Amino acid sequence: MSHIKEYCGIFGIFNAESASRHIYLGLHALQHRGQESAGIVTSVFDEALERRVMPTHKGNGLVLDVFRKPSVFTTKLLGTSGIGHNRYSTSGASHNRSNIQPFVVHYRDGNLALAHNGNISNARELRTSFIERGTLFQTTSDSELFLHLVAQATRRKQIDKIVDALTQAEGAFSLVFLTDRSLIAVRDPNGFRPLALGRMEGAGQDGSTAYCVASETCAFDLVRAEYIRDIEPGEVLVIDSEGCENENFTSYHLGRNFGISQCIFEYVYFSRPDSIIFGETVDKVRRKIGKELAHDAPPPSVAPDEPRPIVISVPDSSNTATLGYVSECEKLGYDCRYEIGLIRNHYVGRTFISPGQDSREQQVRSKFNTVVGVLRDRVVVMVDDSLVRGTTARQLIDMVRRAGAKEVHFRVASPPVVSPCFYGMDFPSYEELLANKHGGSVEEMRQWLGVDSLAYLSIDGLTRAVRSANDSNLGYCNACFSSNYPVPVEMDVTKEENEW
Ligand code: SF4
Repeated sequence: MSHIKEYCGIFGIFNAESASRHIYLGLHALQHRGQESAGIVTSVFDEALERRVMPTHKGNGLVLDVFRKPSVFTTKLLGTSGIGHNRYSTSGASHNRSNIQPFVVHYRDGNLALAHNGNISNARELRTSFIERGTLFQTTSDSELFLHLVAQATRRKQIDKIVDALTQAEGAFSLVFLTDRSLIAVRDPNGFRPLALGRMEGAGQDGSTAYCVASETCAFDLVRAEYIRDIEPGEVLVIDSEGCENENFTSYHLGRNFGISQCIFEYVYFSRPDSIIFGETVDKVRRKIGKELAHDAPPPSVAPDEPRPIVISVPDSSNTATLGYVSECEKLGYDCRYEIGLIRNHYVGRTFISPGQDSREQQVRSKFNTVVGVLRDRVVVMVDDSLVRGTTARQLIDMVRRAGAKEVHFRVASPPVVSPCFYGMDFPSYEELLANKHGGSVEEMRQWLGVDSLAYLSIDGLTRAVRSANDSNLGYCNACFSSNYPVPVEMDVTKEENEW
């Protein structure tokens, strides 16, 4: 149960009847990746203007709230191609409405819309150089930089301008561009954030095939798209009418300065277990992570006359790893049983305001409750996917104790988080991280959490788990666990720094 906020979900579609409805469904499936705002842009020919236009609908809130009026799909968001975005801000203040994506501009090559997932790590440097040249910024988000880079590129063809622009950005960016003629899907050369390509047989005009891209493949399931492959790290894939005829799309490739470093935290916590990420199902990887945890941090042994320990997960993000943990414990000969000891209330939305510590505690209680009959008088092993600040975990542990648990042993299915992320995740500051507050001492953290034992999965164990589940030889970022940042970062950047 991480305190890390997820970042953004993006979805794009080309050559589909009712494109905006498909985008809506896709964004709904990707809601876990961002709950602050949502938006959709489509491309349609305007008979009166005799040119293409890009109608836009966006607002603060969940997808269901922003698109609650069905008429928006039939009267405004027309056309057979479009892009959508769910936002959690990692750059630019969340309250600033101008930061809601997708962004749309009109420039010398026509209309251009953009949806971005990630963080540009040389954003400050780029922004300063634009400001010195007199560029006017409409938003405080780093994503706007892509539009200025494209608009000011000196190449002749639009795609060359886009590729030129992308070569100047560093860091994490999975993008979808919508132009008047195409959908362009991009993953940065490191491949930090996921982006997958899907096919929708018969969803196009006259039964032709439509194509879509999404941050996670769970979005494909809702629109009945078939997963084809990932957009490769550094790939710029152009989906246009010619390419759709025989599924032969043109790809460009961005130069690579820093190797490949896909975000390993996607597997630990961010992505949904029913998604395929980086070419493998999250469910499979997460079970392997649980299995490795059983080797690194088995359950405690109990006296022969004691009932066996029960293993509970912190729902929902830890459920799959816990299943892997218990099955491996059984194989290794540890006598324990999987139980459901915590229940999560899914109807606690972002509207639940928590201005102070007391109400934050109330918020945890509103979100979770204990199953007393399961926990009373038992030795309990709690499995959590990650420990960041540790504040929620501490309250949950207290609740489990109050429910009558005899002992509480905490197992973390990832290594201690020791460094913030600068590649598109909103982490607490270095000083706020639990491991840093206690100088990395597991014993001190154990005491602060109030548990009988505390143990983490090692970095080696996490790497082994991911490698054994996913046989691809592409690399991973683990900087939040190791402090080894694969791309240089501007450490003192804050997400509100460009606010005026
Ligand atoms: S620092 Fe952590 S969260 Fe950020 S990209 Fe790397 S692995 Fe992912």
